Amino acid sequence: EMFGQLTSGLEAAWSKLKGEEVLTKENIVEPMRDIRRALLEADVSLPVVRRFVQSVSEQAVGTGLIRGVKPDQQLVKIVNDELIKLMGGEVSELVFAKSSPTVILLAGLQGVGKTTVSAKLALYLKKQGKSCMLIAGDVYRPAAIDQLVILGEQVGVPVYAAGTEIKPAEIARQGLQEAKKQNVDVVIMDTAGRLQIDKAMMDELKDVKRVLNPTEVLLVVDAMTGQEAAALVTTFNVEIGITGAILTKLDGDSRGGAALSVKEVSGKPIKLVGRGERMEDLEPFYPDRMSGRILGMGDVLSFVEKAQEVMRQEDAEELQKKIMSAKFDFNDFLKQTRAVARMGSMSRVIGMIPGMGKVTPAQIREAEKNVQLMESMIEVMTPEEREKPELLAESPERRKRIAKESGKTEQQVSQLVAQIFQMRVRMKNLMGVMEGGSLPTMSN
Ligand code: GDP
Repeated sequence: EMFGQLTSGLEAAWSKLKGEEVLTKENIVEPMRDIRRALLEADVSLPVVRRFVQSVSEQAVGTGLIRGVKPDQQLVKIVNDELIKLMGGEVSELVFAKSSPTVILLAGLQGVGKTTVSAKLALYLKKQGKSCMLIAGDVYRPAAIDQLVILGEQVGVPVYAAGTEIKPAEIARQGLQEAKKQNVDVVIMDTAGRLQIDKAMMDELKDVKRVLNPTEVLLVVDAMTGQEAAALVTTFNVEIGITGAILTKLDGDSRGGAALSVKEVSGKPIKLVGRGERMEDLEPFYPDRMSGRILGMGDVLSFVEKAQEVMRQEDAEELQKKIMSAKFDFNDFLKQTRAVARMGSMSRVIGMIPGMGKVTPAQIREAEKNVQLMESMIEVMTPEEREKPELLAESPERRKRIAKESGKTEQQVSQLVAQIFQMRVRMKNLMGVMEGGSLPTMSN
């Protein structure tokens, strides 16, 4: 079972929360220790584990209750989202050149599965309707050239080979020329690997890269090597500049460290993964599916997502009611801004407010900065002040105190107070127009 050990290590964390009512600073200590241990045993590097654990802990105590969701389920969801983020979030697609051929250069140490991947990739692209050509550039192992020719035949893709008595950069030049003549869509070049990194290999790769001007330079790494794979991706990126990695042998008893560390450590995404010895065993790297497999808790995840969705809906409806009765206070404001933080983006919430149109990223950034400023002032208000902004409007002493405690200026506090009244008025007007039957148009 792939990542089996990591999965069971994480299960220990959830099991410690059974019977708890909420996630607290105290009751997550043990589970977080389990998560930390599980990741280290999966061979994820220590700095990555530290950042991961810290981020999960912060979210665990900061998220608040979701109705119907148990703390262990909630933690599963937080870990899932953080794992996805760690692995780069979205799937990272191969990039194709504007004008053919697209050139893909493959690099990697010996034995990682580079030659196999070359042919797998050709088949993968062929299935997408692209014509391909392989270039055999491993001049140090005649057997590698033969192997590529055989695999090329197997997947029905032509292989350009020119023997071993020729420099790889020259093979690259000739192969590319041939590919252009034949009008192929994609050229994939296999290069020589070494047992370990050396200068000759890097120089050779640089020469080949110069000749090919590739769209993709992909480093093939072996998942079994754990965090070492992530370090290799970093080194190759610094030395020759790469666009991503292909992780092989994910079907073996790899512990997960490579899949989890490559993006975070090197900044470069894993684009594809090899999951077996057959030519068909190559697929895109989907961070969300990978996390799902690691956790093995598909139903819990979709359940928590639904519960969150329902809660957002209810929050939005409640807000709308408040707006209509012009009772929107600092508590609502804070709740909204925290919801914003939870969702990671202002745009959703703005989208929920009726009548608000398109917002630009710059406006969102500006708004988020304002939100932080406002939060710090609201946080030092008394419960009464939060509910009745009038108290602040009437009392310079209260405003002075809030300025002092939040470390902001009195003018900033006054602005905030003015703002909530303006907001009430604006929202009220907006609702009035809407009730009147005509939708307002917002112009920027
Ligand atoms: P190269 O030296 O990097 O070109 O490596 P090869 O392509 O010759 O592969 C080395 C060995 O790894 C071969 O026996 C392959 O069948 C095997 N291999 C490559 N990719 C995978 C994979 O995704 N899963 C498994 N199980 N074996 C693989």
